[in-house]
Amino acid sequence: MKTDVLPIDNPIRMHAAVQKAVALLDQGAVIALPTETVYGLAADAMNTDAVKSIYAIKGRPATNPLIVHVAGRSMLAGCVPSWPEVAERFLRAFWPGPLTLVLPKAAGISSQITAGLDSVALRWPLHPFMQRVIETLGRPVAAPSANLANQLSPTSAAQVLAQLKGRIPLIVDGGSASVGIESTVLDLCGEYPVVLRPGMIHLESLRAVDPNTTPRQATQGDGPGASAEAACKSPGLHQKHYAPSAPMRVIRWNASESLARFPARFHANAHKTCVLCHEHLPDPACFLRVSVIPSDPEAYARALYAELYACDRLHPELILVESVPDTHPWDGIRDRLYRASSA
Ligand code: AMP
Ligand code: MG
Repeated sequence: MKTDVLPIDNPIRMHAAVQKAVALLDQGAVIALPTETVYGLAADAMNTDAVKSIYAIKGRPATNPLIVHVAGRSMLAGCVPSWPEVAERFLRAFWPGPLTLVLPKAAGISSQITAGLDSVALRWPLHPFMQRVIETLGRPVAAPSANLANQLSPTSAAQVLAQLKGRIPLIVDGGSASVGIESTVLDLCGEYPVVLRPGMIHLESLRAVDPNTTPRQATQGDGPGASAEAACKSPGLHQKHYAPSAPMRVIRWNASESLARFPARFHANAHKTCVLCHEHLPDPACFLRVSVIPSDPEAYARALYAELYACDRLHPELILVESVPDTHPWDGIRDRLYRASSA
């Protein structure tokens, strides 16, 4: 299959790409579209065969449900039996934006999308192209990240092309994703809101809307003790996820230590090791590559996957990442670094 890449860098190209994307979705095709979080692998959410194709193309386990993307309130009616007051408060605060809300599903949402769960994950994306595609199609769009299962999420069209060339007919190139990591996933099915996956909309911001919001228990799908219960509640939260192909280690070090000694500890050579740092800058001459990422959570998230892709292309023996602060704005980044390094 030939994979077209369409830019949307002016209004005429944007319009043409919307028409092309909507025509393909309407025919049941699976295509890659830019969103503000990461690039999505999109299909018409109401077309069961198209939704099945998403799983086949990605090699995604059938047990890992998809996020349904809407544009506007009117589309919510077909997705959920009712719209609770708590959901309305989160909608007003954060939609459109990088927050996914999990709610009991309407009958019209197929179990292909929800992997057999009674709940559905919903998001109203901020990206203007994605909004226009969904509005023009007139139906919600199911879209996981546009990568092969267990690989890095793409934040640029080039990264999608590298993984999915020949497998899909269209990639729309919207430039670099402005958020850079996957959405925060918030479960609203229980007594109080629970963060299933941390993201750039973090706990402090969520608690400003509902003070009862709690993080997922640390043992649930979040570390060596990843429980079956967590995998069942949000099956995408497997520990090994969001990972580059090279082994990765997150390390804490201070300026007085020689970073050059760390690779040996992990049985790697320094000159075959890539380093991602934001505060302590090592001597670049010692390493295969040194990426200096801004020490600000928003800028860090935007850069993270692009830097990991760039490292991976060099086939290093090891990727060493300087640990990030323990504060809530960094929760989503810490989560991805943890998962990527526990592969
Ligand atoms: P991705 O689209 O690849 O960013 O992954 C979607 C995430 O949303 C995964 O972590 C899923 O487990 C989670 N998710 C999707 N639907 C549900 C649901 N009904 N209940 C809980 N988590 C969900
Ligand atoms: Mg994904």
